[in-house]
Amino acid sequence: MTEKADLTAVLDRAAEGGRITPEEALELYRHAPLHALGQAADAVRRRRYAGTEHIATYIIERNINYTNACVTACKFCAFYAAPKSDKVWTRDLDDILRRCAETVELGGTQIMFQGGHHPDYGVEYYEEHFAAIKAAYPQLVIHSLGASEVEHMARISGVSAEDAIRRIHAAGLDSFAGAGAELLPERPRKAIAPLKESGERWLEIMELAHRLGVESTSTMLMGTGETNAERIEHLRMIRDVQDRTGGFRAFIPYTYQPQNNALKGRTQATLFEYLRLIAVARLFLDNVAHIQGSWLTVGKEVGQLSLHYGADDLGSIMLEENVVSSAGAKHRSNRTEIIDLIRKSGRVPAQRTTTYEHILVHDDPANDPVDDHVVSHLSSTAIEGGTAHPELKILSTN
Ligand code: SF4
Repeated sequence: MTEKADLTAVLDRAAEGGRITPEEALELYRHAPLHALGQAADAVRRRRYAGTEHIATYIIERNINYTNACVTACKFCAFYAAPKSDKVWTRDLDDILRRCAETVELGGTQIMFQGGHHPDYGVEYYEEHFAAIKAAYPQLVIHSLGASEVEHMARISGVSAEDAIRRIHAAGLDSFAGAGAELLPERPRKAIAPLKESGERWLEIMELAHRLGVESTSTMLMGTGETNAERIEHLRMIRDVQDRTGGFRAFIPYTYQPQNNALKGRTQATLFEYLRLIAVARLFLDNVAHIQGSWLTVGKEVGQLSLHYGADDLGSIMLEENVVSSAGAKHRSNRTEIIDLIRKSGRVPAQRTTTYEHILVHDDPANDPVDDHVVSHLSSTAIEGGTAHPELKILSTN
């Protein structure tokens, strides 16, 4: 057990912006008092955002799920269907474009094109869809996919990962969402996603993307049975790549949802573990600008708290989300509520772009947007009351 004085010294050094080692990060994660950890992380956040430290951001986006067919069969996933299953569905381009139209209509700025590893979808599929989306809605940012999809589509098309990245970028992909990171260390990754590429390969492809000018965010799935040391190792692997490329814009941890998947909820991260991870990420990832707190998987109150543990962003109002919702994420929200949540946590809310510019700073409640159509899960298939594919809720097909 680390001496209290040692722990305080590490915490003070981290709070002042000094780099901490993976071993020190693990000690802080395991043993630092929760509030002291939060204070240190908040001090780092305030210094990084000096001048705008009173602001916390959110984005309006839509996840567009183009198919649930997937050959990869991750054990934590409640979304996919085996390609020959009668539960498989795909969305055609017209349907996808209608969803983009709704997104624009509701003030959304970003889409996350998200789906399974379909056995027939190679680079050409993504080229065609991204080009069509950009032709129809050039104002939408396509922040989508990750190294796993690149690896898969390159294999289907018989090209290199580099060629795949270059081609989908040229067709309209703006940045990678960093999907598929799950847990990067080998043991927990193999346990939950044995058919996915290795963590090293995931990072290699993201590094390649950064070098080709395609930035990304990075993610982490917590609570599927990984150890504390493996959580910190995940952070170390990201920090090492970031030292070389600077291409990760943000780090976004989220928690495993226990329903309808092969892991059957045997393990889960606690909310305190989540907050501690947010804080340690802010301290350890001194080279990643944005730390995103989530309300979708951990709830709105913990989302609010995350803003005091080093997070500067509360993620998105997802007009549509089906992946973690299929696994039991029950939280719903809307723009009015997100603005209120941020304000009640003592910060000024601001709508942001994919690249974190502030579009609209809500510094006067009298000027708050009143459009109550901007709600999460507007046309999700995964929740009761959501519209089932291929229906759309607010945009007529006429
Ligand atoms: S997480 Fe993604 S790759 Fe894994 S089974 Fe689900 S859809 Fe497929």
